[in-house]
Amino acid sequence: MESQLRGAQASEMAALLSVLRWDGSVSRQEMIRQTGLSRAVVAQRVSQLMSKGLLDDGEAGRSTGGRPPRHIRFRASAGYLLVADIGATSIDVAVTDLASNLLAHHAEAADIALGPELILGRLEKLFEMVCGEAGHIPGRLWGIGIGVPGPVEFATGRPVSPPIMPGWDGYPIRQRFSDHYRVPVWVDNDANLMALGEGRFGVARGHDNVVFIKIGTGIGAGLISDGLPHRGSHGSAGDVGHIQVAEDRNVVCRCGNVGCLEALAGGAALAREAERRARNGSSQWLAEVLERTGTLTAEDVAEAARRGDTTSVELLQMSGRLIGRMLATLVNFFNPSLIVVGGGVAGAGDVLLAAIREVVYGRSLPLATRDLLIKRSSLSSVAGVTGASAMVLDELFSAQRLEAWIDVGHPAELSGAGFRAEARES
Ligand SMILES: [Zn+2]
Repeated sequence: MESQLRGAQASEMAALLSVLRWDGSVSRQEMIRQTGLSRAVVAQRVSQLMSKGLLDDGEAGRSTGGRPPRHIRFRASAGYLLVADIGATSIDVAVTDLASNLLAHHAEAADIALGPELILGRLEKLFEMVCGEAGHIPGRLWGIGIGVPGPVEFATGRPVSPPIMPGWDGYPIRQRFSDHYRVPVWVDNDANLMALGEGRFGVARGHDNVVFIKIGTGIGAGLISDGLPHRGSHGSAGDVGHIQVAEDRNVVCRCGNVGCLEALAGGAALAREAERRARNGSSQWLAEVLERTGTLTAEDVAEAARRGDTTSVELLQMSGRLIGRMLATLVNFFNPSLIVVGGGVAGAGDVLLAAIREVVYGRSLPLATRDLLIKRSSLSSVAGVTGASAMVLDELFSAQRLEAWIDVGHPAELSGAGFRAEARES
């Protein structure tokens, strides 16, 4: 009986927090309207949440005669999160508050293929560094969120047979960090996190069904379905880079198959094809860059295209059309209202995006594209860390988790035995 009561109270608090976390400063009247809770219940839960330091008085609202009502505000500074976006060739780390504002941020080059011990060891050093920059963190760290460039079994926080991450298969990333920091930890695929970041704080806000396509060294997608991340039964939903788009047997993908989308259209493929064309004399521009730097990257192709190099424009169009064909199939299947194009290569300029648009609108069913928008990522290089923060907050403030920690006022409890047992079971 008592636990039922606690469960109901936690649901009511979660409902109030979900209004306050997104709308900033809100009147009691507005909370009653949005949650459907009674005036008395709102008053009780607000006072409980205030006593835990999660809410405080905001500015006065507008008076409709008499004393103006005081607004209530979510205290985003009650705790802090450490977040990381580990890509194939980079590590991004940040400290955020409980509203996913970045308080300190650092990005550097890294090679995921060095394996988990080296990469995660470096990540711990970088966490220390950004904590130092942000200040006041010790004792107020509430959780950790980490993205990796491969499929993750979300319930346990372990990568599952990631094609480009040798040595990471089954590595207990969650356990390593929760043992070390004594806070709850969640791990997800990087494209899923970018989708979530855009959905909560970026260009996809207000859209319930979204495809985020990440075009970097490789290609991946993150899905938002009915407003929530769709991870699939084993965490590999959205792993579209290895969909076969050609019969070409000359290009073997990192996964061992032939004809994979990312092996033909990803950043590594663009760089390889650019190098071939620089050597065979079809692009003077690319040949000069290759001569000067000894190597070509997808960014060089983008820069050359911006300067009018026709070979580079062709390469980006080819890549965009292949990605567009795969997306047209997804659009017919999933019926999103928005496709967000992000990742390092997506910053390449308009040529790639234009080619993607042309193919998606041309090849998808009319009903599926009637209101379909295709936009560039608005969070761009910080989409991953912002999404990692959003993931941790979604978990911490869910009714079920809130019930487990709200009495102590701090979610560190969640990293204890109960949380790990749950991770093992599922
Ligand atoms: Zn592949």
